[in-house]
Amino acid sequence: MASGRRSGALPSTAATVDTTPRCRPGRRRFRLAVHPPPWDRIARPMTERVVIPIAEHRYDAALPHVPESPQSPVGRLLDARGRRLHDLRISVTDRCNFRCTYCMPKSVFDKDYAFLPQSSLLSFEEIERLVRAFVAHGVEKVRLTGGEPLLRRNVERLVEMLAAIRCASGEPLDLTLTTNGSLLARKARALRDAGLRRLTVSLDALDDATFRAMNDVDFPVADVLDGIEAAAAAGFASVKVNMVVKRGVNDGQIVPMAAHFRGTGHIVRFIEFMDVGASNGWAMDDVLPSREVIERIHVAFPLEQAEPNYTGEVAERWRYRDSGGEVGVISSVTQPFCGDCSRARLSTEGRLYTCLFAGAGHDLRGLVRGDTDDARLAGAIAHLWSQRTDRYSEIRSSRTEGLRKIEMSYIGG
Ligand code: SAM
Ligand code: SF4
Ligand code: SF4
Repeated sequence: MASGRRSGALPSTAATVDTTPRCRPGRRRFRLAVHPPPWDRIARPMTERVVIPIAEHRYDAALPHVPESPQSPVGRLLDARGRRLHDLRISVTDRCNFRCTYCMPKSVFDKDYAFLPQSSLLSFEEIERLVRAFVAHGVEKVRLTGGEPLLRRNVERLVEMLAAIRCASGEPLDLTLTTNGSLLARKARALRDAGLRRLTVSLDALDDATFRAMNDVDFPVADVLDGIEAAAAAGFASVKVNMVVKRGVNDGQIVPMAAHFRGTGHIVRFIEFMDVGASNGWAMDDVLPSREVIERIHVAFPLEQAEPNYTGEVAERWRYRDSGGEVGVISSVTQPFCGDCSRARLSTEGRLYTCLFAGAGHDLRGLVRGDTDDARLAGAIAHLWSQRTDRYSEIRSSRTEGLRKIEMSYIGG
């Protein structure tokens, strides 16, 4: 098998963690299941962790600094580590009809959970204006996500508005959307007609019982597969299929998923379970390293590594030696890729986050709803990005364990 682009040895430093319970009155608690970790890098003795109230994060956003005399955007913006601003991910709703155990566990996202009110959400016009400001700085790729983006009413109208935007090169944006697929059979044609060119569907198992348990709302796998078929029929020739792998939960589905989508033109991407947010009970021993994913598939269907499509591509590509297509692995835990990270994230209510693992954002909505003109809006974005130093996945360790982090469903995956 070819060696991986990021296939260095697995990390094994010797930090021991002080996991003093961080209990505060009035906060929700959940028990963290603990087994002996595979690596001692993030060892966790039996303890109780506290979920930070998620709504609290929403108030943790300062208004960005707005330069008095902003420079005009030149179509290329670098952060403090020399990384370009190239991708923008936009969460169009914090709501979801699934309760995936690794993302929106029912114990936290229950009937009492306070989702954002409609008035807090960025309107489509506000999103469009912000996207134009980002495009002026060189953003060429936009992903709509959530929560479940297809729950946002008339999301295809937003797609249509964003599809009309041109990059500095004159080309349309590389516009894509990530969905759990539950509403896709109904929506695929409208999304395609609105100008969406690429699509990612999340699917964690082919086995119906495993899938129902992971989405935790008893949603059948057949309906998601119907959605993928509908998407293909509507013209999405190569759908990306995201599978979050949790050791001992759905890792038995790796080879069946690879087998099912081999030869279809669709590309399965196996994602390491990440410690996003504070509610999913993440533990290192739940992570199956991508290297093992590739080894398992390779035994069944020999693989060889493929070149990345572009610098900064998140997924590492592997193709079947017999021309059956390709798979990808996203290894943010075992092989971090912060060095190339060119992604900014816009939350449902218009906070800008410069890292998936950030604890606080900046309130761009406050500027958009105020009297800030386009030049000063672009200046504020430039100021924020140019100060960016994030590299959470590279420094994930005992030192980062207790950090406050925003939830994935709010910030967008
Ligand atoms: N609801 C849509 C979906 O599931 O496709 C879009 C939003 S979801 C937050 C975006 C992606 O993040 C999905 O592919 C999901 O599987 C992934 N994701 C969520 N929580 C994750 C975690 N803890 N680790 C790794 N990936 C995660
Ligand atoms: Fe919903 Fe997507 Fe999170 Fe699952 S991963 S709970 S489908 S937002
Ligand atoms: Fe980018 Fe943050 Fe992920 Fe690193 S940890 S790749 S900086 S989002």
